[in-house]
Amino acid sequence: MTMESIKELFKIGLGPSSSHTMGPNLAAKAMLQKYGPDKFYQVTLYGSLALTGKGHLTDEAIIKVFQPERCKIIFDPSFMPFHPNAMRFEVFFKTRRIANELVYSVGGGTLVYEGKNQSPKEEIYPHENFAQIKEYIEDNGISLYEYVLQFEDDGLKEYLKKVIETMFAAVEQGLKTSGTLPGKLKLERVARSMHQHALNTRDGNDRKRLLISAYSYATTEQNASGNTIVTAPTCGASGVIPAILYYYHRNENMAVDDLVPVLCVMGIVGNVIKRNATISGADGGCQAEIGSACAMAAAGVAWILELNNSLIEYAAEMGLEHNLGLTCDPVGGYVQIPCIERNGFATLRAVDSAMYAKQLGYLRKNRVSLDAVINVMKNTGKDLNAAYKETSLGGLAKELLVDED
Ligand code: SF4
Repeated sequence: MTMESIKELFKIGLGPSSSHTMGPNLAAKAMLQKYGPDKFYQVTLYGSLALTGKGHLTDEAIIKVFQPERCKIIFDPSFMPFHPNAMRFEVFFKTRRIANELVYSVGGGTLVYEGKNQSPKEEIYPHENFAQIKEYIEDNGISLYEYVLQFEDDGLKEYLKKVIETMFAAVEQGLKTSGTLPGKLKLERVARSMHQHALNTRDGNDRKRLLISAYSYATTEQNASGNTIVTAPTCGASGVIPAILYYYHRNENMAVDDLVPVLCVMGIVGNVIKRNATISGADGGCQAEIGSACAMAAAGVAWILELNNSLIEYAAEMGLEHNLGLTCDPVGGYVQIPCIERNGFATLRAVDSAMYAKQLGYLRKNRVSLDAVINVMKNTGKDLNAAYKETSLGGLAKELLVDED
């Protein structure tokens, strides 16, 4: 078996970062459960977690679990070998060190413990890439949705409904909230005004695009404020998929039940990307987060438009291809600039990718497969300088300095 349940891509939790907040929080909870509350915990954050941990609230996510008097956080910007997001938990009983565990937060809230099986979750899908999946479903005369149902357990539909409802709650809360986002950037929330503006816009095309954008902003502003969101496939890229689903629900009258198959199609594309490349910004740059979300969302819109499997693949491929090379350079380490606007753009790009697939896909066979572009994304991520992989050492983070007060 080669791929985990798509449930692993859609985790409900607190923002602003699946790898930098949710993962460390889960790791700390696991340590506390294993060693107990009467110990002292020294946690060293390495690499990207050290360089952007303050802005991503990594230290707060850990301290919240252990309590300030029972833990100490050390920031060490050196990189550990397996993944740029590493944490060392040293556990002390009185003055004696009783445990020392190195844990990696590899994206989407997933943890890998050094020295243990690097894929702890059960793998349930037998195929490795999209070409194999496509061949299987076409040989068996089933849809992508039926393919997912064939390998997932009976609880999938209920879980995905809960995911969709959580996504919608985040959109609706974000549309109601105004004020300033937490952190030193003092960035104003805009989703609420953007939504009002969309409703007042007469041009139908602008209105649709502004509505979709407002839904995306609403979720990512909730994420930036540390509220409950769904990784899709990460917190940083959590605005794209909910915006598409909410638009079709609210503005095109699709019921939540009818959106479950859409999320399954999005999920299988995300699974193939996660299996063959990465969904972590610290590992592959923003192309791995926003590019993945855009590809997944594009496939979902193509499914809604009732395109065939090749055109769904084409839409997903474009969603990723045109985000290749996208750098991760969050200003001040906050998941705000460029992240919030970037989610909005990626959401529109997903819609456009599906439209291109629908309108152009019949003119010429796509020469670039989804598997090929995933491989390119992986290799591009390896080539990217570390300054552009969630370290806040390059790009916009270097250009827009945050006042230290
Ligand atoms: S720039 Fe992209 S990858 Fe980096 S934190 Fe923002 S959304 Fe995530």
